[in-house]
Amino acid sequence: MATQYQHQEHTHSYYAATVNEKTDYPVLQGAKSADVCVIGGGFTGVATALTLAERGYCVALIEANRIGWGASGRNGGQLINGISGLSKIRKKHGEGIADMLWDLRWRGNDIVHDRVARYAIDCDFKTGFVEVALKPRHLDELEEYAAEMDAHNFAHEYALWDRAKTREILGTDAYIGGFVNYRDGHLHPLNLCIGEARAAYELGVQIFEQSPVTKIEHGDKPKVHTAGGHVVAESVVLAGNAYHHLEPKHLSNLIFPAGSYIIATEPLSDEMVNEINPLDLAVTDLNEVVDYHRLSADKRMLYGGRCNYSGREPASIEASILPRMLKTYPQLKNVKIEYEWGGMIGIVLNRIPTLGRINKNVYYCQGYSGHGVNATHVMGELVADAIAGTMEKFDLFANMKHFRIPGSQWMGNQIIALGMLYYRMRDLL
Ligand SMILES: Cc1cc2nc3c(=O)[nH]c(=O)nc-3n(C[C@H](O)[C@H](O)[C@H](O)COP(=O)(O)OP(=O)(O)OC[C@H]3O[C@@H](n4cnc5c(N)ncnc54)[C@H](O)[C@@H]3O)c2cc1C
Repeated sequence: MATQYQHQEHTHSYYAATVNEKTDYPVLQGAKSADVCVIGGGFTGVATALTLAERGYCVALIEANRIGWGASGRNGGQLINGISGLSKIRKKHGEGIADMLWDLRWRGNDIVHDRVARYAIDCDFKTGFVEVALKPRHLDELEEYAAEMDAHNFAHEYALWDRAKTREILGTDAYIGGFVNYRDGHLHPLNLCIGEARAAYELGVQIFEQSPVTKIEHGDKPKVHTAGGHVVAESVVLAGNAYHHLEPKHLSNLIFPAGSYIIATEPLSDEMVNEINPLDLAVTDLNEVVDYHRLSADKRMLYGGRCNYSGREPASIEASILPRMLKTYPQLKNVKIEYEWGGMIGIVLNRIPTLGRINKNVYYCQGYSGHGVNATHVMGELVADAIAGTMEKFDLFANMKHFRIPGSQWMGNQIIALGMLYYRMRDLL
């Protein structure tokens, strides 16, 4: 089935305006071959391709638009431990795998950390992340989290903050407490994605841009088709997340696209930076529908939130996000907004990323429910392990049951929007 979109350049984000490298990989033309063909040049696809290349595989990576064009090049840049839905996997498999899951939830951070250092990727990487409480039940969650860190003898700096400390560091009365840790952090996601793709290319990965895949022809050696060419491979990895429409018989209505939106201010004065985020931390609240913010390297406030689960774009991103930012930081009321943008995340009903195989040699990996900078890097490694024959961790996810909402994707989005309305009401209580 043909994809439903045209190839496009990057959206007008702060990230696209500050890229280190404008990628210009060739369009796929004619017949190519590889051990593994990866479809989608976001973090999932690039991390998978790079992991495979590091292990000596011959890889082709095909992107419909530009490397990092999707959610990976547009997100909040918060590198946060955890993979959504892990608690359900633990419930199914019991305490025996608790330590393995604890390691897995941090694994993506370590991979990013290593790659930034090994390949000298300039992506403004900083450690330090604080989860903030808006209501008393959030404080209970933070205390449980701190106890979990204690139990694991967590080797990085972490601390619980009371209201006064949170006020002192984050310059707002909106938060009643916080939990900071220095293993999570933040970065320029588009520069990370492009830097990882550059590293993969230098290890021999054939990268193609502006080459939407139109069809996967299954078989012992699957053939991946675009308008101008094809790649024959031993294995295929489908990593198009919320933006692809391939393999509808197997994958339609497994994940649902939902919009998330960010505004970026003009660079703030030093006085303002000292007032609202002098430690340069990434910040996320504990609501079900989260607000998140951080400073860019040039000290702009990047403030995001307000997922749109109905599949409809808001009429104005600024009109939808600015009041939220000003509620938290009224002191920014005279600051100019210079960028606004959004992107699509892939929501899964039970929140567990959907990993699996269509036939024995076509893998898919998608659906991080809005939490993916860390998780995509973990999943890239799990898929690479599976291709090499080590299925244990891949199967933890692949064997989880997912519910497919019958009917059209539009119908699925309306059902998800209704479900999220319930959570928004809870956030208001
Ligand atoms: C506004 C926003 C803020 C976010 N903030 C955070 C955050 O702060 N921290 C965090 O952890 N997560 C965040 N996320 C989520 C995170 O960005 C995603 O989970 C993650 O980037 C998903 O990566 P991906 O590679 O699977 O998908 P994408 O990055 O969406 O990549 C999919 C790629 O596949 C390509 N593609 C699709 N179909 C085809 C085809 N037929 N042929 C070839 N290529 C195809 C697309 O063009 C696209 O480039 C945010 C997301 C958004 C949108």
